Amino acid sequence: MAFEIIVCAKQVPDTNEIKIDPVKKTLIREGVPSILNHDDANALEEALKLKDQYDDVHVTVITMGPPQAKDMLIECLAMGADEGVLLSDRALGGSDTWATSNAIAAAIERRGKYDLIFAGRQAIDGDTAQVGPQIAEKLGIPQVTYVTEFKIADDRKHITVKRAMEDGYELIDIQAPCMLTAIKELNTPRYMSIQGIFDAFKKDIPTWGAKELGVDVNREVGLEASPTNVFKSFTPVPKGQGVRLEGDSEKELAEKLIVNLKSKHVI
Ligand SMILES: Cc1cc2nc3c(=O)[nH]c(=O)nc-3n(C[C@H](O)[C@H](O)[C@H](O)COP(=O)(O)OP(=O)(O)OC[C@H]3O[C@@H](n4cnc5c(N)ncnc54)[C@H](O)[C@@H]3O)c2cc1C
Repeated sequence: MAFEIIVCAKQVPDTNEIKIDPVKKTLIREGVPSILNHDDANALEEALKLKDQYDDVHVTVITMGPPQAKDMLIECLAMGADEGVLLSDRALGGSDTWATSNAIAAAIERRGKYDLIFAGRQAIDGDTAQVGPQIAEKLGIPQVTYVTEFKIADDRKHITVKRAMEDGYELIDIQAPCMLTAIKELNTPRYMSIQGIFDAFKKDIPTWGAKELGVDVNREVGLEASPTNVFKSFTPVPKGQGVRLEGDSEKELAEKLIVNLKSKHVI
């Protein structure tokens, strides 16, 4: 039986200028070029490294998004994934992280056996870093976030990961099946290969909607079922230019700083 790896990947706008619909409070995707979310490319790379190492590894990429998210799945197949599944349905639109993870967890369960799930730490548009951990909770499997190193024993059960922390790292032993969320330090994602691109276009990418997922469109997915209410969204005003103090000694710099702060009535 194959060792089944699921990679959760999101298509995100290729820009730092996220536009938000002022009425619906949702992201505006129209007219913005899209890419595979950076951390998700690292998640996929780690899965593909295992596929390079063992003959029986099967990698499936699951994404939830609008129909054009299929292009991102083709890219993942061209990088080396075996299978892509698109979750797309009007009933799934407007989902917050809770509803998104309901749909993805349902898709993973529907697909059948899984040994390992990789997600990115965080999507560059929504930026919450919630979806991976929520999927793990819903599937009832252990999880480690911020994974920067990954080692799996030959039994493919025992895994050791290095988890990045602000002031160091943790070494954690965890058993498959589990959820790991990747950060960019984990690896360098590979490019698509020419042969991979040809093969990717020949593969069938199924689209599953709420019906195939067996989710309740009133209570589990979509805008109405989403418990998050965006009260207000705005682009922060850029901060003013900073002031650089020059001086030959710390004492001189401290004196200048005091004068500066006093002139602004801060002290
Ligand atoms: C009220 C409300 C309405 C919203 N409506 C929309 C909307 O209409 N359209 C929209 O695009 N967003 C919408 N969003 C944003 C949406 O909730 C999030 O983009 C989405 O749930 C993922 O959260 P995130 O981007 O913070 O991902 P994170 O939690 O930061 O992502 C972590 C990881 O989870 C995985 N992941 C996250 N999202 C997906 C996905 N869709 N498919 C596969 N893997 C995934 C990836 O591996 C990713 O790296 C809405 C948010 C709110 C609060």
